[in-house]
Parts: sequence; structure tokens; C-alpha cells
Amino acid sequence: MKTEELEYLFENTDDYLFDEALLRHMQNALRHLPFSDGEAILGRTLFLCYENGEGSWQLPAAYIRGRNVVILDPDDLKTPEAVTITILHEAAHSFLGHNKSGRTQTKDEYERQEDEAWAKVRDWLPPSLHGQIDRAEAMGGGTSGQLNPEPE
Ligand SMILES: [Zn+2]
Repeated sequence: MKTEELEYLFENTDDYLFDEALLRHMQNALRHLPFSDGEAILGRTLFLCYENGEGSWQLPAAYIRGRNVVILDPDDLKTPEAVTITILHEAAHSFLGHNKSGRTQTKDEYERQEDEAWAKVRDWLPPSLHGQIDRAEAMGGGTSGQLNPEPE
């Protein structure tokens, strides 16, 4: 297809390329958000689920023509709470416009972006889930991918 058609396809909010399982996961996660936040995320982020051995991670929009890509590892999606927290953590990076990844960012930048993303997830989710968010944060949940620097 033409470049213009491809751009249109990925701007089309009716077509996110979700399979049934991912669609359910996305609905369960995004239902916690204000409409405008969910709309902003879906408008700029492509979500894919595949086992890649690197955990879940977000590819900043700077790499692919203004569109973030979130890769979700099935290992991070084993309970409903893990699904929601993993999706929203990666979505938060997109929502907050975090545009650096992996070796292009310093350790300080990485840690600041992680703090901001987790703060946004806490903002979106009810206090009843904050204990699970604390545990996910402590484990580096959803952020252990190769694109992120190793903790020193
Ligand atoms: Zn992260």
C-alpha cells in the first residue's frame, strides 16, 4: 500500500490490530483512566503482545514517526492485576511523552522516567491496587527489557 494509506491505517482509531485477548486486556486496563487519557494513549500508541524474552517495554515515538510502540510480554500478564499494572506502566511512558530509551538515556533520566511512570499509574489506579504497584515497582516489573539500562 502507499505510504499515505499506511499512515491513515495507523491513525485509524477503529483499527488497533488487537486480538481478542489483548483487546480484553486493554479494555480492563484503560477503563481505569479518564476518557481523554485513554483516547490520547490509543491515539499515539501501538500495543503488541508477544513473547520476546525481554519483558515488557516501550519504544519511544521518536523511533517510528511519532508513534509509541508498547511490547507486552505474556509473562507480565499472568493475573488481572499484573495485566492492568503492566499495560498502564508502559502506557504511562507513552502518555507522558518519554522519548528516550535504552542506551540513549542516562541512568538519572531512566530513573526519573520510571518514577514519573509509576506515579502516573498510582494516579490512575485506586488505592486498593497501590500495594501491588509497589511490588511491581520494586521488581522493576514491566521495565526489565534490554532497552533499559541495567541497574548499577
Ligand atoms: Zn518503565
